[in-house]
Amino acid sequence: MSQYDYDLFVIGAGSGGVRAARLTALGGKKVAIAEEYRVGGTCVIRGCVPKKFMVMAAEVSHALEIAEGYGWSFENAKFDWPTFLQAKDVEIARLSGIYAANLGKAGVDLLHGRAVLKDAHTVEVIGKDGGDKQTITAEKILIATGGRPWKPDSLPGIEHAITSEEAFHLPELPKRVLVVGGGYIAVEFAGIFAGLGVETTLIYRGPNILRGFDDDVRAHLAGEIEKRGIKVILGCQHESIEKTEAGLINHLENGMKIETDVVMFATGRAPYVEGLGLETAGVELNENGAIKVDEYSKTTADNIWAIGDVTDRMNLTPVAIREGVAFHKTVFKNNPQRFDYEAVATAVFSQPPVGVVGLTEAEARHACPGEVDVYVTRFRPMKYAFTGSDERVLMKLVVEAETQRVVGCHIVGPDSPEMIQLAAIAVKAGLTKAQWDATCAVHPTMAEELVTLR
Ligand code: NDP
Repeated sequence: MSQYDYDLFVIGAGSGGVRAARLTALGGKKVAIAEEYRVGGTCVIRGCVPKKFMVMAAEVSHALEIAEGYGWSFENAKFDWPTFLQAKDVEIARLSGIYAANLGKAGVDLLHGRAVLKDAHTVEVIGKDGGDKQTITAEKILIATGGRPWKPDSLPGIEHAITSEEAFHLPELPKRVLVVGGGYIAVEFAGIFAGLGVETTLIYRGPNILRGFDDDVRAHLAGEIEKRGIKVILGCQHESIEKTEAGLINHLENGMKIETDVVMFATGRAPYVEGLGLETAGVELNENGAIKVDEYSKTTADNIWAIGDVTDRMNLTPVAIREGVAFHKTVFKNNPQRFDYEAVATAVFSQPPVGVVGLTEAEARHACPGEVDVYVTRFRPMKYAFTGSDERVLMKLVVEAETQRVVGCHIVGPDSPEMIQLAAIAVKAGLTKAQWDATCAVHPTMAEELVTLR
C-alpha cells in the first residue's frame, strides 16, 4: 500500500489539469484534483469558449449587412445583451458540469478549494470560506493553475479599468469602449465590442498590432479592423484614467483625451503562482515569474510537474492538453514524451479572424540557410460581391527555397481559423509547394487560393 493518500494530486481543473487527471485515473491510479473556482478553467469559464460565443454574437451584425446586399431586409434588428449573457452563462454552466461529471466518471476525487503546498508531498486544501481545511498527501503533484490577466498597477486610475474577466459579465453593454493592448485578447475584444455596436477605440504602444505575427498579417489586419469601425491608435500609451460624471477620461501620452464608458486592459496574462507555497516545496520560478520546467514538464522539485499557462511556454488550450497527455505518458506509462512546439497552428478571433501556422517571413529568412520564396494574394471574398464592401482576404505562403517546403501559412479573412487547422497538417508534415499545388482546388472557395498561388 502506498504511504500517500493519492498517487497524483492535480492543482487546477482547467483544460490541462483535467486531461492529465482523467487519463491517470483511467489508468488505475488514485487521483484527486483541487479547484478553487469552477471546473473548466480559463478556456471554458473565462476564455476561449465564452469569447467565441461573444465573437459569434458580434459577427451577426456583419452577416446582416451582407444579407441586405443579397436582398434580405431586417426591420428593427437589434441585439439584447442580457439575453445573450444569460444564454452564454447557461451554456458555460452546462460545459463546466460536463467537465466535473467526466472527472467523476474517471474516478477522480474533485476537491473544491484552494490548494497550498506544505511540502513536496503535502497539500492543504482550504475551502471557500477559509475555515474548512484538509491535509492531503500525494506521491506526485501536478500544478496546472493557469494564468490571470495582468494590468499595470502603477498607472493612475487603473482601478477604473476592467480586464477580459469582467468583460464577460458587464451588467450592460457600454456605448463607448477603449481597449488597451495589441495582442490576441485586445484585438478579439475590440472586434466583439465593435460588432455589437459599441464605439470602439484600440490603443497599442507598439508600431503595429499582433507583435510576433507576420508583418503582412499585422498590416492587413490593422487595415481591416479599421474598415469594421475600430479606431486604432498606435505607438501610444496611457498616462492616467480619470473618472468623471460623464465617464472615464483616458489621458494619453500624446496629449489626447479619450472619453469612454469602459476601458479594458488586455496587456497580457501572468502565471498564477501566488499563494501556492511553491518555495516550501522547492519549486522555482523563471525570470518571467512562470514555473520553471524541463522539456518533460518537470519542475525543480523531484516529484512535482507543471503544465499549461502557469509555465508560460505556449499559452494555448490545445497545447496545455497535449502537455497534460505527455506528462501522463512520461510519468505513469514509462513512455517519456515531449510536446513538439513546432508548427502549432493558432487563430486570433478578431473580425476578420487570423489563422497562422509555422514561420513568419522574417523568421524564415532568419532560420532557413538559403533563400525564402514568398507567395502572397489579396482579394475580395466572393460573398462581399453584392455589398460594396472593400474588405479583402490575405493569404501568404512562406517557402524554403532550397527544399521547397512550405514552412509558414498565414491567412487573414473569414473562416481562416477553420482553414488553418487543415493547412497545419501540410505544414507539420513538411509538404512542398509542388505537393500543395498537386492538390486539386475546391471551387469556388477562398481556400482554393492556397493550392493555386503563383
Ligand atoms: P499578449 O501577450 O498576446 O498581448 C499583450 C499586449 O499588451 C501586447 O500587445 C503588449 O505589448 C501589451 N502590453 C503589455 N504590457 C503593457 C503595458 N504596460 N502597457 C501597454 N501595453 C502593454 O496577451 P493577451 O493578454 O492578449 O493574451 C495572453 C495569451 O493568451 C496570448 O499570448 C495567447 O497565448 C493566449 N490567448 C490565445 C487566444 C487564442 O488562441 N485565440 C485568445 C486569447 C489569448 P507588446 O507587444 O509591446 O509587448
